[in-house]
Amino acid sequence: MSMRMVLMGPPGAGKGTQALRLAARFGVPTISTGDLFRASAAAGEALGLKAAEYTSKGRLVPDELTDPLVAERLAQPDAAQGFILDGYPRNLAQVDALDEVLAARDTELDVVIEMDVAPEVVLERLLARATAEGRADDVVDVIRERIAIYTRETEPLAEVYVSRGILAQVDGLGEVDEVTDRLVSAVEPFVAD
Ligand code: ADP
Repeated sequence: MSMRMVLMGPPGAGKGTQALRLAARFGVPTISTGDLFRASAAAGEALGLKAAEYTSKGRLVPDELTDPLVAERLAQPDAAQGFILDGYPRNLAQVDALDEVLAARDTELDVVIEMDVAPEVVLERLLARATAEGRADDVVDVIRERIAIYTRETEPLAEVYVSRGILAQVDGLGEVDEVTDRLVSAVEPFVAD
């Protein structure tokens, strides 16, 4: 079974939580660019420290830093049979970069899921997470910037994947288990045996 999947959705849609659940269910790794940047910054690496200049403002980290990081992660053996990308691609140039990495290996995406959640709900969730986890980018101005950038740069990717016939939309509102069930049902028709 091949399971090459992208999970899209605004900040606070619950992508991280659901990506881990889908990964366990389908036996493939989750690749979260946000987590990779945070881990790199926590380790004091140059890449992570540079990325933090952007993440702390809610901006996208430049493609020159992001694309190679993802390409390198996708080259690891555990991603050979599939992966769940959480937070990548986030703009049209990254769509092209990802296509190239996959094409070089004679593979392509099976499915892209867009989790829909209303902007008021994501703002509320992110403010709650700020208190719980203390993430530096979960403050109101930065959250607004992340949502604005999502709308401007990332949301248009849905059209691209619709035109390829691989986009599935899922309502992200509801209990965590309920949303997982919806995602699994949405993914199944696209996953080759
Ligand atoms: P959220 O989806 O809640 O914004 P993430 O953990 O996915 O959280 O991302 C945190 C930050 O990391 C983003 O605001 C952005 O600055 C940076 N980032 C993550 N993925 C990418 C990407 N594909 N391209 C550029 N920057 C990214």
